Amino acid sequence: MNGAASTRIGRLEAMLARRDADGLRRHRRIVAAPTGPRTVVDGVPMLAFASNDYLGLAADPLVIAAARDAAQTWGVGAGASHLVSGHSVPHDALERELAAFVAPAGGVDALLLSSGYLANLGILSVLADRHDAIFADRLNHACLNDGALLSRATMHRYAHGDVGALAHAMQRSAAPRKLIVTDAVFSMDGDIAPLAALLELAGQHDAWLIVDDAHGFGVLGEGRGTLAHLGLASDRIVAMGTLGKAAGVAGAFVAAHPVVIDALAQTARPYVYTTAMPPLQAEALRVALGLIRDDDARRVALHAHIARFRAGAAMLPWTLLPSTTAIQPLVVGDSDAAVALGAALAAQGIWVPAIRPPTVPAGTARLRVSLSAAHTPGDVDALLAALAAAS
Ligand SMILES: *Cc1c(COP(=O)(O)O)cnc(C)c1O
Repeated sequence: MNGAASTRIGRLEAMLARRDADGLRRHRRIVAAPTGPRTVVDGVPMLAFASNDYLGLAADPLVIAAARDAAQTWGVGAGASHLVSGHSVPHDALERELAAFVAPAGGVDALLLSSGYLANLGILSVLADRHDAIFADRLNHACLNDGALLSRATMHRYAHGDVGALAHAMQRSAAPRKLIVTDAVFSMDGDIAPLAALLELAGQHDAWLIVDDAHGFGVLGEGRGTLAHLGLASDRIVAMGTLGKAAGVAGAFVAAHPVVIDALAQTARPYVYTTAMPPLQAEALRVALGLIRDDDARRVALHAHIARFRAGAAMLPWTLLPSTTAIQPLVVGDSDAAVALGAALAAQGIWVPAIRPPTVPAGTARLRVSLSAAHTPGDVDALLAALAAAS
């Protein structure tokens, strides 16, 4: 018995030791403050450029009050999945408000899911099966790749943003159903997918276009997201947005033709077989959505910070990627150099995560600066000064 246990444990230990040897061990830093620029990390006060809380809603007093009041009214748990007994008035109201916001001209419904990860698993496993073909940008978020695995469709990955390579791959495929799958704003680069060209290609092949707008929703297109920013709409687009980034809470939604939403609600296993998000979360999100929709000041502040950072970072010795979004990566190249730069900033009280392969391609280790409306211009200047001091 002990021998068997040592084999079981031993295999995992060997795997962990290999990760250590490859420099891949991840450390979970313990944060002792609400999400925001001024935080405490492993007991040390820090100015953070590390979260996806792009509009500063995660600790907004109005959103907090909505959660607190809703806990009084609705309790804390949904009690069951949506199809059993967990689908409450707040969920229903939020779905309607999301649909009306992201597609003001109508024509789409929205479905609320517990996370973006689950939403992508649901979308891909419902729209594709093992006979079909999924065409995915090489820099897509990992959960889109996991959704493709769950669908058992054949997966073709095309070079980042390379519409020509995608067109060629689609031409060669005889699959009965084709799906083009892309991040709208790429999470480690901050650039925007060529969505107009992808939609045109989808039209030529009668394919679906799945758009993961985790980093555009709330930030671009007056908050409606990247598709609104680019003026794109089509019943072949299935749009997904997350509610734990700019919206400041947690969860995700899918917005698409009502038949797509009905099919997901009926058959998406990551929707059907999981407990509904707490109603208090939906109520907090309704208030956050109202702020995204009606209060432009946060977006104006964020975009001013983006411009300020880019102007200052142009003088630094690292490569600033061409991003107009809240994600502003500084490519350092070598993994150890990126980690050392992160440590040099931390020594100055500034927290910017270093991102290394395999999360990003080899040789492109970087600092992923993420800006928020909750920062001040002085915070951005402090980051630039710390980077200059570390250069
Ligand atoms: C964060 C993220 C997700 C996952 O969303 P969660 O709600 O955190 O599960 C999906 N896609 C992209 C591009 C993301 O950045």
